[in-house]
Amino acid sequence: MDIAIVGAGLGGLVLARVLHVNGIDAVVYERESSRGARGQGGMLDIHSGQRALREAGLIDQFHAIARGEGQDMRLLEPDGTLLLQEDTPDDAPLDRPEVDRADLRGLLLDSLPEGMVRWGHTFQSAGDGVLHFADGTSAAYDLLVGADGAQSRVRALLTDARPAHIGQNVVEVGIPDIDRTHPDLAAMVGRGTYWVLGDGLSLAAQRNGDGRVRIGLSFYNTAEDWFATSGIPFDDPAAAKARLIDLLPGWDPRFTALIEACDDTVVPRTITTLPVGLTWPPAPDVTLLGDAAHLMPPVGEGANMALLDGALLGLALAEHPDDRPAAVRAYEREMFARTSAAARMSTDMQELLTSPDAAQKMLAFFRPG
Ligand SMILES: Cc1cc2nc3c(=O)[nH]c(=O)nc-3n(C[C@H](O)[C@H](O)[C@H](O)COP(=O)(O)OP(=O)(O)OC[C@H]3O[C@@H](n4cnc5c(N)ncnc54)[C@H](O)[C@@H]3O)c2cc1C
Repeated sequence: MDIAIVGAGLGGLVLARVLHVNGIDAVVYERESSRGARGQGGMLDIHSGQRALREAGLIDQFHAIARGEGQDMRLLEPDGTLLLQEDTPDDAPLDRPEVDRADLRGLLLDSLPEGMVRWGHTFQSAGDGVLHFADGTSAAYDLLVGADGAQSRVRALLTDARPAHIGQNVVEVGIPDIDRTHPDLAAMVGRGTYWVLGDGLSLAAQRNGDGRVRIGLSFYNTAEDWFATSGIPFDDPAAAKARLIDLLPGWDPRFTALIEACDDTVVPRTITTLPVGLTWPPAPDVTLLGDAAHLMPPVGEGANMALLDGALLGLALAEHPDDRPAAVRAYEREMFARTSAAARMSTDMQELLTSPDAAQKMLAFFRPG
C-alpha cells in the first residue's frame, strides 16, 4: 500500500513515525525545500499530545527537550496589577511543559529513516491514485493523508469548508537574547508565560528556549482587513512599534517598555478557524489530520490534537492491515468526537479572552471558587 502524507508538520511526522515503528512504509511530501528552510515559530504547550509521543516511542527524548519551567505563568491587568503568579517547582510533573516547536519537529524528523520525507514537493492536486506536485512531477498513492495545515489544499477533496476569520488580529514582535540585552525585562517576564489581559486586547510574552522572548499583541473584535486600517506601518519597524504603543493607551509603562525593547521583526497574523464539529462523508482513500481537519483558536490545543491524530491514525492503519477504509473510518470516528470537544473548549476560552473584564474572568478560571 502506498501511503502518501502531505505535510511534514507535527501531525504528518508523528503519523510517519508511528507507521515506521509498526513496519508500514509511507512517504511524506513537504513543500519546504529543507528542514531549516523556514523558522518554526515559538513554544508549544504539550499536554494530551504526550500520549502520541509515547505511542511513537519518543517520550523520553521529548522529556529531555521539554521545559518544565515554561509552565510558569503570570497574569496581569493593564494597570500593572499582578493577579496571579504560578512558579513551577523543580520536581513538578511535566504535565504541560513547553517545548520549542523546532526542537519537537527536529526530534520527529530525526526519528525517521533517511528519504522518508521528500522535501520541495508542493502538493497541487490528486485523483485516480495519482498526486500532482507544483513542479510537474507526480506520485502514486493508495491512501492520501492531508497533513498540510491551516491552508490545506488536500481538504478540498473532502469538504467545501474553509477557514473563516474570528475577529482576532495578532502582531508578533520579540526581544532577542533578553537575559543579556534587557535583564530587568527578563526578570519581569520570568521563565514561562507573561499575560496581560485588557478589554479587547491582550499581550502575551513567552520565553523561548533560545533566550528570545516572543510577544503577541492580540486585537479582538477586529475585522479581517483591520491591518489595512490599523495605521501600523509594517514596512517601518520603528514606526510600527511606536504605533503599537499608541494602541495600548493607559497601559503600565513596564508593558510598553517590552514593546520598545523589541527588534525589527514585526509580523501580522490574522486568526481563522474551521467550523466547530466539521465532518465529511468517509472516503476510502483520503483523510485529513491536524489543522487541515480542525483548525481552532490558538489557545493551546491545536498541536496536541495534531499529534494525537497522527499517532491514532497510524495505530488504526496498523490494526487493520487488510482493510484501509475500516482503519480510516475508525480513525475519523474518534478524531471527529475528540477534536470537536477540543474546538468547543477552545472557542469558549476564546470568548472569555474577548469579553470585557477578561483578566478577572481568567483569574476565576485558574482559581475557581
Ligand atoms: C502563534 C501560535 C501558537 C500556538 N501555540 C500552540 C500551543 O501552545 N499548543 C498547541 O497545542 N497548539 C498551538 N498552536 C497550534 C499549532 O501550532 C497547530 O495546531 C499545529 O502546528 C498543527 O499541526 P499540523 O501538523 O496540522 O500543521 P502544521 O504544523 O502547520 O504543518 C503543515 C505542514 O504542511 C506543509 N504544507 C502546507 N501546504 C503544503 C502543500 N501544498 N504541499 C506540501 N506541503 C505543504 C507546511 O509547510 C507544513 O510543514 C499555535 C498556533 C499558533 C499560530
